[in-house]
Amino acid sequence: MSEKAANSEEVFSFKCPACKEGMINIKKAIYDLPDGDKMLILKFECNSCNFYKNDIIPLTTNMKSGIMTLKISEENDLKSKIYRSPTGKLEIPELELIVEPGPRADFYYTNVQGILFRFENAVSIYRNNLEENDPDIGEIDNLLFNLQQAIEGNLKFTLKITDFQGGSYIIPEDKSKYSFKKIEKEQ
Ligand SMILES: [Zn+2]
Repeated sequence: MSEKAANSEEVFSFKCPACKEGMINIKKAIYDLPDGDKMLILKFECNSCNFYKNDIIPLTTNMKSGIMTLKISEENDLKSKIYRSPTGKLEIPELELIVEPGPRADFYYTNVQGILFRFENAVSIYRNNLEENDPDIGEIDNLLFNLQQAIEGNLKFTLKITDFQGGSYIIPEDKSKYSFKKIEKEQ
C-alpha cells in the first residue's frame, strides 16, 4: 500500500444497487496533491459482482470562481490533472467539444488524456448510431481523427473550465501553460 493511501479505512457497507445480492464495501482515503490540496476519495466495491465506483471530493481546494485555461502543446501536457465539479463547464474550443455543468453530471477527476478518452467514447457511440448515408458522418469521422491525434500528443489545443461557483481546478504539468482568470459569482 502506498504511503499516500495509508490512511485508507473501511467505513460502512450497504447492499449492491447492481446485483442486489452482494454488499458494497466503502473505503475512504485522503490524498495529498502536489500543490498542497487534499482530496477525499471514496471507493465503492461490490463483493459479489463487478460493480465499482469512485467518488472524489475536494477538501481544501480554493473555491475561487473563474476561468481556467490550459494550453496543450506536447505529450507531457496530457498528464495535467483535471477536476471538474458539477458546476464547471469544460470545453475544448478547437474541437467544439463541451461538457455542460449540471447536478447529474459526473464528477471528473482525471487527466487531460482521460478527458479526451471520454469525448472519444461519447463521439464513437454517436457515430455508431448514425445511418451510413447521414450527411454528418464526414464531420464526425474528422472529429474522431482529431481526437485520436490529440490523445497521441500530435494536436495543439486548449482545455478550458469555466466555473461560476468555484471548486473545479487544473493541476498543470507545465505551469507556464496555465492561466486563471477570476470572475465574480453569478447572482
Ligand atoms: Zn453487486
